[in-house]
Amino acid sequence: MSLNWNVEKVERDCYIKIIPEMEVPGYMASNDGKLLDPVTEALIWATMTVGLGQITKTNAVEFLARWYWVEQLSGRGRPTAARWVPTRIPPPTRKDPSGSWQQEVITIKDVLDHVGLSTNVSKEPLHTWRRRIGELYFTELMSELKRAQEQLTPKVYRCPDGHEHNEAGTDRYDNLVCVTCGATTAAV
Ligand SMILES: [Zn+2]
Repeated sequence: MSLNWNVEKVERDCYIKIIPEMEVPGYMASNDGKLLDPVTEALIWATMTVGLGQITKTNAVEFLARWYWVEQLSGRGRPTAARWVPTRIPPPTRKDPSGSWQQEVITIKDVLDHVGLSTNVSKEPLHTWRRRIGELYFTELMSELKRAQEQLTPKVYRCPDGHEHNEAGTDRYDNLVCVTCGATTAAV
């Protein structure tokens, strides 16, 4: 599915006028030299993550709570977006256009500023979504820890008679033959 989005109903201007100091790659700019605000862009992509295709005044808190929760589960921390922060120059030389892009956390104000944003993502009810995401990350954690455990635990070989030999001894049991009884051993 391709992601379609619409910001026409958003009151705030979702585009930033590009100035040379911003060092924005040309391909990122629209025809009239404007850049889709990275905060807006992050929110558009987030609609897929959070399973909500619209930002409204009513769901703003839930929208961001879902997003924060996923990012916390994944260990990335709270979501951020680049913002153009002008250099603070005291008057009267205030005309210096320099500044820098700074990565800052997306806040509830950012979400409320984008009420009206919509995408073609369909709404997934909170309980279904929460269970699906919770299970996803829990399963991932389980696999990660299982792998870690397997690396800690030496492999044990056991012959048909039940004599055990651990991996440390495999050099001595190259052919996996039990030194106690001579039977061929198998990994357990
Ligand atoms: Zn044996």
